[in-house]
Amino acid sequence: MTIVRGTVVTMNPGREIIRDGAVVIAGETIAAVGSFDEMRAAHPDEAISGHEGDLVLPGYVNGHQHLTGDRLIQSSIPDDLPPGEAIFSWVVPVHGEHSPDDDELSATLTLAESLSNGITTTFEAGTVAHPDRVVAAAQTVGARATVGTWGWDVEQGPYTGSVDEVIERQRAALDLETGPRVSTWVSLVGHDLMSDELVVAASELARTRGVGMTFHLSPTTSDVDSYLARTGVRPLVHLSALGVLGPHVAVAHGVHLDSQEVALLIDSGAAVVSCPWAYLRLGQGVTREFRHLDLWREGGRLALGCDAENAGDMVDGIRTAALFAGVAKDAAVDPTIFGAHDALELLTIAGAEALGMSDQIGSLEVGKQADIVVHDRSRIEWIPRSPDPVLQLIWGSDGRSVRDVYVAGEHVVADGQVQTVDVAALAEEAQNAGHSLRTRSGIKAVSRWPIS
Ligand SMILES: [Zn+2]
Repeated sequence: MTIVRGTVVTMNPGREIIRDGAVVIAGETIAAVGSFDEMRAAHPDEAISGHEGDLVLPGYVNGHQHLTGDRLIQSSIPDDLPPGEAIFSWVVPVHGEHSPDDDELSATLTLAESLSNGITTTFEAGTVAHPDRVVAAAQTVGARATVGTWGWDVEQGPYTGSVDEVIERQRAALDLETGPRVSTWVSLVGHDLMSDELVVAASELARTRGVGMTFHLSPTTSDVDSYLARTGVRPLVHLSALGVLGPHVAVAHGVHLDSQEVALLIDSGAAVVSCPWAYLRLGQGVTREFRHLDLWREGGRLALGCDAENAGDMVDGIRTAALFAGVAKDAAVDPTIFGAHDALELLTIAGAEALGMSDQIGSLEVGKQADIVVHDRSRIEWIPRSPDPVLQLIWGSDGRSVRDVYVAGEHVVADGQVQTVDVAALAEEAQNAGHSLRTRSGIKAVSRWPIS
């Protein structure tokens, strides 16, 4: 057993915060939550981790993250390309050259960074060539993760195939041995890169197997234009008519929706994962059309995502939550409409609920998995401390103050250092792998300004 001490932000149904509190970890789960004095008295011989001044929270949930493709060429794709060019001239060729070793290395790096910033659960976005290697990476790092694999039945692109081939590939991913913290789900690329037959079959597979399903849709207006031209209706109207939507579905993005599409999401129980940094880096119009706020206000299911290391780049949940709150206020021109506390809900319990995992994670409650994040409030950005720790967490801090992280009770980040992998030892390998990947894929990543 371990007693984790600090101000405990429980995210339980009453949203209780315990000033000098503690969370008791027994094995993989939370055995007790309460005042430090009570926990200490009940468990006098157990080890104590942390201090009264620490801030203790449930692990953060990242609902959309590409674990391969971008990491080894991170922050390399210029941020002034025309729409679509980053994907089809850069990301797709890189994915086409990604080796199994590249998959495992990039997922290891992304998940290690995620843990170091307090993200304990990551939903992979569905562009993995070798899901067994990404599962292995998650197991090594000790992260909780859900992994997908490529699924698209268009003519060209990495790992494209017929409907039957794509479904077989999905089925094989679902059959992987993953261990307790890792799972696999059905994943399509989405957009207008899936036939009706494929999306119907994939949704049916997810329903039959009792797993979730994700695909990309409408980060820009191009999917809207394409569906209108092909089907005469907007994307989610069409997918709803096909019977694809349901509580098992997590739509990545859904930025450009109309009111009917928002209503269809709510009625079907399908979730949306919002990745605000990606929309800003790629200039996709989120500040003009912020339907995610409508979805949230009308009771829809919503989670946050960090997306990719060339689309928002940094894998930091606090930074993402703060941006979402800021865009929500500004898009509505109403500071009262959404705030830090709402954003923290999306990053924890509400995000976990949207993605079907709130029975296990998302709050610090007895019986749930011991996924715990501890922020060190002796750092300069926390001095002096606000009476409202959530306000200060979201607006005044980020992942830098994460000092300790537990996943299923395992102490995976201690004193700010990832314990499960030697990050420094991976640096040279990552540098070489990134260089090789650039060369093989023929992309020309350069500095815009001369470096002598
Ligand atoms: Zn994505």
